[in-house]
Amino acid sequence: MSHPTLDGMPDRLYPATPARLTTYLDCPRRYRHAYLDRPTPSKGAPWGHNSVGSSVHTALARWWALPRERRTPRAGGALLVDAWLTDGFRDARQLRAARDRAREQVERYLAGIDPDHEPVGIERTVSVRTARASLWGRADRLDARGEGVVVVDYKTGRSVLTVDDARSSLALAVYAAGAARVLHRPCTRVELHHLPTGDTLAWEHTPESLEEHLARADEWAARLAGLDERFVAGMAPGEADEVFPARVGPRCGWCDFRSVCGPGQSVPPRQPWAGVVDAD
Ligand code: SF4
Repeated sequence: MSHPTLDGMPDRLYPATPARLTTYLDCPRRYRHAYLDRPTPSKGAPWGHNSVGSSVHTALARWWALPRERRTPRAGGALLVDAWLTDGFRDARQLRAARDRAREQVERYLAGIDPDHEPVGIERTVSVRTARASLWGRADRLDARGEGVVVVDYKTGRSVLTVDDARSSLALAVYAAGAARVLHRPCTRVELHHLPTGDTLAWEHTPESLEEHLARADEWAARLAGLDERFVAGMAPGEADEVFPARVGPRCGWCDFRSVCGPGQSVPPRQPWAGVVDAD
């Protein structure tokens, strides 16, 4: 979909993950800290809920690498324990409770998975081009179903998800468009698999709804390409603060860059373990 310019050469495409674009939309100041400031400001302590999420993702990916006869739910639980990350928990008790809960969730989830139904992609990087951007990302899992491919994204957080989360996700739309491109098969269905509840939130895109996501991403990418260029060319601190305004809100308590963000410090910080579900 790269559009030629007047002299026949394609535009230079802005490479971006969906996370890069949505970080800017959530808070331009955070975007600047995460993607433009060099050296990158130091982040706060690691988050316990990120340890839970990464460990679960690793276990579910490694499960498919086991020989077929070893792909049991119990083996998935053992992989979770092996992959467990220990950062960000309040104490050993919280860590153990979280690990046991995650192990149960992984085993319950895998009990509903057909081990013979090999995915066509596991943590697979896919990409798609728009007129001004090269969008890429890593899909947790790509399943072959019928003639097409389905995007599966694992979720481990506490938030209750809805179908709207699947429908409105730029990341899932990019994975779907990217998977269709690299696998040469239709891919319009996207699914969020929420481990804590066992829920699947699915959305069937149309070519038009995918195109809408990509068109929006293209616009944001073009805007960021201009802003990045201005920043790299040099901006006075005041100008940079104006061009990348702080969007203060409850999210600041969870922000990795709160310690370097004056406006964000008006929001109380969250403890690294605050996002971990407690046993009590
Ligand atoms: S602390 Fe808040 S305002 Fe500051 S960068 Fe983070 S999200 Fe943005």
